[in-house]
Parts: sequence; structure tokens; C-alpha cells
Amino acid sequence: MKDTFYVTTPIYYVNDVPHIGHAYTTIACDALARWHRMKGQKVFFLTGTDEHGEKVHKSAAAQGIAPKELADRVVTRFQGLSPALTISNDGFIRTSEPRHYAAVQAIFRKSLANGDIYLGEYEGWYCTPCESYWTELQLVDGACPDCGRPAEKRKEPSYFFRLSKYQDALLDHYAKNPKFIRPESRRNEVIAFVEQGLNDLSVSRTSLSWGIPVPDAEGHVVYVWYDALTNYLTGLGYPEATEELAAFWPADLHMVGKDILRFHAVYWPAFLLSGGIEPPRCVFAHGWWTVEGQKMSKSLGNVVDPYDMAARYGPDAFRFFLLREVPFGKDGDFSNKALVDRINSDLANNLGNLLNRSLNMLGKYCDSVVPSPSAPAPSDDALRGAAVEVVPAADAAMEDVEFHKVLAAILSVSDAANRYLDANAPWSMAKDPASRDRLGTVLYNALEAARVSVLLLSPFIPTAAQRMWEALDCPGRVEQAVLSEAGRWGGLRIGATLPRSVIAFPRIEEP
Ligand SMILES: [Zn+2]
Repeated sequence: MKDTFYVTTPIYYVNDVPHIGHAYTTIACDALARWHRMKGQKVFFLTGTDEHGEKVHKSAAAQGIAPKELADRVVTRFQGLSPALTISNDGFIRTSEPRHYAAVQAIFRKSLANGDIYLGEYEGWYCTPCESYWTELQLVDGACPDCGRPAEKRKEPSYFFRLSKYQDALLDHYAKNPKFIRPESRRNEVIAFVEQGLNDLSVSRTSLSWGIPVPDAEGHVVYVWYDALTNYLTGLGYPEATEELAAFWPADLHMVGKDILRFHAVYWPAFLLSGGIEPPRCVFAHGWWTVEGQKMSKSLGNVVDPYDMAARYGPDAFRFFLLREVPFGKDGDFSNKALVDRINSDLANNLGNLLNRSLNMLGKYCDSVVPSPSAPAPSDDALRGAAVEVVPAADAAMEDVEFHKVLAAILSVSDAANRYLDANAPWSMAKDPASRDRLGTVLYNALEAARVSVLLLSPFIPTAAQRMWEALDCPGRVEQAVLSEAGRWGGLRIGATLPRSVIAFPRIEEP
């Protein structure tokens, strides 16, 4: 196992405020970061904001403020996601920071020096009032798709990146690294796109001032995508030869929405190859959410606000729902009802119920003291086997970024423990003094299965997991537990006094 893990969200555009899509990507990365920390790896988890470009410039102008002022205002909404959703990012990068200017200019210079960036002429359809270029395909009846006014063909000097030169190198990289683009279906799309041939890419603008200046080229700012992608290097200290850069690059996983896969899987590795820098190990493109069957939009008023969700249901419930409900990589549909049903069935009725009925019986029959499992019986083996096997199974599914499978596997253990209690009926054993040891063993096993489940669920539901971890008298913070030790059967401390119940997941009752 590698001893480091570097995971990133895309940087979020400050022209928008956070919605379910941002939360989804960030929560997925957080679960991965927490899982890899639990494996004992050193993790760097980076998120941040994309603050340059035309749209920010225009929004700011419309509000009569400077672009940086708009960015300063909106960035707090994205930074606030971390406490609101219990996100454990190690870094937060803003593209308006000086350190990022240094990184972008450094990699740009490398490609200038080796001839991969050259001065040419950019031609497109320009809408003067909107100060925007559009491609032929984007025009609506020859007019600007934003304001509907006629667009005119216009040229400006621009630096171009020699993307065409990297077609073979990219195809070779995809072939040698079959897991570079995931899921598989997306990989095929990207390969088909690159096989068609690549055009050189305009990487500077003179029609815009809110951006990073092209080195030694007055009037040019770096095109916003070239600027944005470089954040993954800036976050580790590039262009300085920092310890973080040496330890964490190449990135293990860039998590992205499927709409921006091409930038990450085609342009970004080409920029890096040109700069003599190794490409990331994997780009994973996840799907999109609709809301109650409809596309999410401001005009429909159905935008899901992660702050509202966290306030209403708690961050754990929202986190759990997003990663449990839909096979990761596919599109999903959000509704409050689906969330409530999912929390009630998987967390309240399954794990929460297991823990509370076990604690309750422990109080009634054992004075709340964890007994020694001193009277084993064959029926114990299946439960113990399930709890032992789920650790490598969940880890393998996590490697494949299949959160829904990880969660289903973990919940099958608490489900098995509930059935084990039903089958062994400790309440009957309690009536017979001769069954005393057997009763203690059954309660021990049920609580131990709950402990293993809580540990494995902790990257997904960190707050509730900590509460349950403490209720089981486990030492320290669950997020500091190491899987190879804490994941072993038998970690529950014999002789510990436990509470009679724990509020983990009360059933959500909604009209
Ligand atoms: Zn326009």
C-alpha cells in the first residue's frame, strides 16, 4: 500500500452558490479522505474556488463591485461547507491567491520555453455587450445564447497550447493506465474524442482583464481553464519543491462532475506532460442529481441547498443519503421523502436499532457491564465471519469508488446482528440462570458487530459514528482509529460500563 493519498474536488466557480452538486463531490472526496486516513495513509484533501474569468467579472460589474470583492463574498459560502457538512479538507485554494499566480505562470513558462505554447489568433463569435466569445454551435439562431443579441465574428491575438501534438501521448497514457479515467463508460467516451484528433487550444485572452497575466505578454490573461486546472499543483506548493509536492504528487484522484471530465482527462494531462510533470493517477467522473424527477434550476425553485439539508436532517443523514442512494458514477434523483426513507430504514431501523436494543438488554440483564464472550456456539460463527469479511470487502469497494456497495456491505453486518439477536432471543435466556454465560456471549457479539459497523461507517457519518463509538466505550476519536487494528474482531472492552441507550439516528417523522 502507498503511504500517501491525494484527493481533490474541482474548484468551484464563485459565480454560483453551493448546491447539491458541489456538496456531492465534496462529500464523496471527504469519505475517501477519511477512509484512507483510517487505513493509516497520510492524506491530503484539497478543495477550493475558481475565481477568475468572464462570468465573475460580469457579475461583479453588475453589482458595481470589483471581481475580487465578489469572490471574497461568495468564497465564504464554499468555505462554510466544511463545518456545515463535517468536511475534513486539508487545504482550500483560491485562484486569486498570489501562490496560485506563481504556479500558473511557472507551468505556462515551461510550455512557452519548449514551444508547446505559441502566439496565434483566436477567432470566434463575439457578443460585445456580454464581452463573450461563443462557438458556432453555441449560438442560437446566430445570436448570443445569453442575451439574444447578434454576435459578430471577431479575432484577437491569443496564445495557443499545442494540444494536437499530445494526441498519441494521451492515447498511450490511457492504454497504459486503464484506471486513469473512471468509470469505464466515461473512459471510452474520452478515448473516442481524442481519437478524432485534437485542435490546439487557446489559452489566453486579451478581451478580459480579470485573470492571471501571461508572463511577459502585456494585455494577455491566462484562459480560465488553464488557470483553474493548475490549482491541483498550487495546493501542494508548486512551483516550490515542497515536501507536500514530493509526497503527494501525482494526485491519486481528481473527483469531477461528468460535464468537466474532458478538461481533466484530456487538457490537464497534456499540460502536465508538456511541463514535464507526471499526470494524476485517476480522474473519476460522477453523475448528476435531478430533484423529484426534474432538472434542478433556479427558475423552478427546486435547488437543493446543502446548508438547509444539514440544518434540517443533520450532516450525517445528507452525506449518507447521497453516497448510499445511487451507484456512484450514475445519475440520481433527490427527494426529501427518499432521504427520510433511506435514513429510517438503513440507519434508524438497522444500525441504530441494533445498538439501542443491545445496550438496553445489556442494562437489563448485565448491569450495563460488557460481559466476556465465554460460551461460544456455532451460530456465533456466521456473525463473526460477516464482520471479519466485511473489512477487506469494503476496502476493495472503496478502492473502486463504489460507495453504495461499501455501505450496503457494512449494513449487511448490522442487519445480520439484528437477525442473530432475534434467533438467539436473549430475553428468553435471561429467564434461565443456566443460560447466563450464553446470554453474555450473545450480547457481546451483537455489540461487537455494532462496533465494527460504526468504525466502517465513520468516514460517511462522522458525527453519529463518534457518538456511537463513545457509547461503546471505544478509546479516542473514531477518525483516529486504524482499520488494521480497530477493524479486528474482539475490540470491545470486557468489563466496560455502557449507557442504556444512545441517540444515534432517531427515526425522522415527516408529514
Ligand atoms: Zn450577449
